[in-house]
Amino acid sequence: MRESRGALKVGSLRGIPIRVHYSLLLVLPLLAYLFGGAFRRAAEVAEVPPEQLMGSPMLWGLGVAVGLFASVFVHELAHTFYALARGGQVRSITLMMVGGVSELSEAPPRPRDEALMALVGPLTSLALAGLFGLATWGVEGTTSFNLQFACFYLASLNLFLGLFNLLPAFPMDGGRILRAVLSGRMGPVRATRVASLVGRGFAVLFALWGVVSFNPFLFVIAFFIFMGAEGESRQVRMKALLERVSVSELMSPRGAGVEAGALLEQALWDLRRERQTALPVTEDGRPVGLVDVEAVRAVSEADRIHRLTREVMRPVQVVRLDEDGWRAVRQLAENSAQLLAVVDADGRLVGTLDVDDVQRGMMLLQTREERAERDARRWRQERPA
Ligand SMILES: [Zn+2]
Repeated sequence: MRESRGALKVGSLRGIPIRVHYSLLLVLPLLAYLFGGAFRRAAEVAEVPPEQLMGSPMLWGLGVAVGLFASVFVHELAHTFYALARGGQVRSITLMMVGGVSELSEAPPRPRDEALMALVGPLTSLALAGLFGLATWGVEGTTSFNLQFACFYLASLNLFLGLFNLLPAFPMDGGRILRAVLSGRMGPVRATRVASLVGRGFAVLFALWGVVSFNPFLFVIAFFIFMGAEGESRQVRMKALLERVSVSELMSPRGAGVEAGALLEQALWDLRRERQTALPVTEDGRPVGLVDVEAVRAVSEADRIHRLTREVMRPVQVVRLDEDGWRAVRQLAENSAQLLAVVDADGRLVGTLDVDDVQRGMMLLQTREERAERDARRWRQERPA
């Protein structure tokens, strides 16, 4: 839902969009620069004489940055292919600085599946680290210093990716495994809350470590973990709440939209009266489109008295009255729709659902739930032992 923001689409795989998060775009040139600057030291660590290496230090820095990018990509592909093989649907892949996010259409249904899906990424990185480690060892003693150097750093990057992602810092892979383990005992909502708390704890530690060691990478990582933990925890809470209500409990009841044959002047009047920026367009009580204030205002005032609403309407997203709240919210978000037209079993318009309706509904639900919890607690306390 939210990972698509702040990311650049770079391609697609079997119809799944692949995006690169700005954190990675920012870090790659920085990594290239830092590695290039510390080139002699880097060569010493790899036990390669630096004067034997071809190309400039900055070129090697660029190579390491591309290597990180490729390693993150392979790591993420492992998650994606596993999900697809298990019959899951992946909506998008976002490559981040220390891993990625494969956005699933639906969360894995069983904790076991989630744990395994989280595990395949780090395992793939560790396997690659092993392979490149072997290659490094294989060419050692020969004079293929360039190859040895490249293999050494590819092994190191993948080792770092594998180990780092296994930390139980939700929403990283290790944190997802932790959540899956906890889910079996305390249910998904509490498990996510606990895992997210641990994740934020790690984020704070990384930030402090970043201050002490003057390391900007750690700051970016800390920020990413903190926001991710917070966001997913909220999303899981939201899902648990909304799955239990139907669209009818969330929507704004609305028996009529703007008539498709109405003049634009009339449409503008309807929008004002309903205090909405958009309304469904109806024909015989059934939604056939969506009209918004901007579309009407784009038509000159003189033309509004003889042009029809039908001419400026856009396609509208429709949802059934008895659909569950969570699916409706997903439909709203996935289509970036301004609102959904809510219809009854006969396809007649009975209301609209937008982000404000959802937020208001969530607040009411939360209050209701908290009150119920409080009452239950009081009842337990007052009950004679
Ligand atoms: Zn991963």
